[in-house]
Amino acid sequence: MCTIPTDEPESDGTAKWDSTTIVIVEAGGDDARGIGYTYCGAAAAQVIREQLVDLVHDDVRASWLAMGGAVRNLGRPGIAACAISAVDQALWDRKARQLGTSLVDLLGAAHGDVPVYGSGGFCTYSLDRLQEQLGGWAAQGILRVKMKLGREPDADPKRLDAAREAIGGDVELFVDANGAFTPKDALGWADRYAHEWNVSWFEEPVSSADFEGLRLVREHGPAGMDVAAGEYAYVPADVRNLVGCVDVLQLDCTRCLGITGVLSASGLANAHNLDVSAHCAPAISAHVFCAVERRRHLEYFHDHIRIEEMLFDGRPELRDGALHPDRSRPGNGLELKRKEIEKWSAS
Ligand SMILES: [Mg+2]
Repeated sequence: MCTIPTDEPESDGTAKWDSTTIVIVEAGGDDARGIGYTYCGAAAAQVIREQLVDLVHDDVRASWLAMGGAVRNLGRPGIAACAISAVDQALWDRKARQLGTSLVDLLGAAHGDVPVYGSGGFCTYSLDRLQEQLGGWAAQGILRVKMKLGREPDADPKRLDAAREAIGGDVELFVDANGAFTPKDALGWADRYAHEWNVSWFEEPVSSADFEGLRLVREHGPAGMDVAAGEYAYVPADVRNLVGCVDVLQLDCTRCLGITGVLSASGLANAHNLDVSAHCAPAISAHVFCAVERRRHLEYFHDHIRIEEMLFDGRPELRDGALHPDRSRPGNGLELKRKEIEKWSAS
């Protein structure tokens, strides 16, 4: 487990933070070691050590079933789902390495890459930093970028002006309120975002636990604007509850019971004609979402890009605005930078 300070204080519509914790799992074996991870807290590491390690074996889906059963009385959604996600990723990775194939090929590629959108634009940023970050992604050939808003709504028009100026007219502008608004306030802002700044994606306009509120914004919001949520979907019932409330379903393979969880939820999305967007953790998500038929794009999130560069070699390459897993490398291709991991584990 590593806790790494952010490069400056960060906030969104409803939370503030100055560090990020990642829990990394290695699934050992004589022939191959698999790597998985989740962005959670120390409690996830404890669940892994105390509840999960003795249950897992070579059969990935059988291990997944056993882990789900073992945490029933702890509460499967939330921390336990994050813990299972990290172990499940490591088991899939180990299986791919044992077979000498890439994770993408083991899962079965529907796509060879996953387009990304740059994500950051925190409410704490100066207008200069906001422009530098979003404009930087646009200059790298990324076709869509996302900023946070809703903390001080009256300050947002200036921030949106700055963002649009930095990225020009052709790059899509996404916004994420992290549940900061009431449904009626969100509807009012949705109209302004769409008409004044050509915003095409409104994420968590209201709390993602407010299904009726999400549905209201989705049904009455402007044409051409997608309403998205799903980053707090941990178990299949959470995914089912969002059907009909969102235009695009977000899934996080470090939270929603791992790769096995994503593949299962992908089937539900197919049945409802819902596109799926990968939430964060780009180094592993790029592999997993190549196997998701309706994958739309992946959140290339500032904090996670930075941490994954620090801790992992062998990350998928960003090229032409998309992440391309290297299918010549076994498994997920990741190698741990052990010295860096030790450094941040100790702090
Ligand atoms: Mg979000």
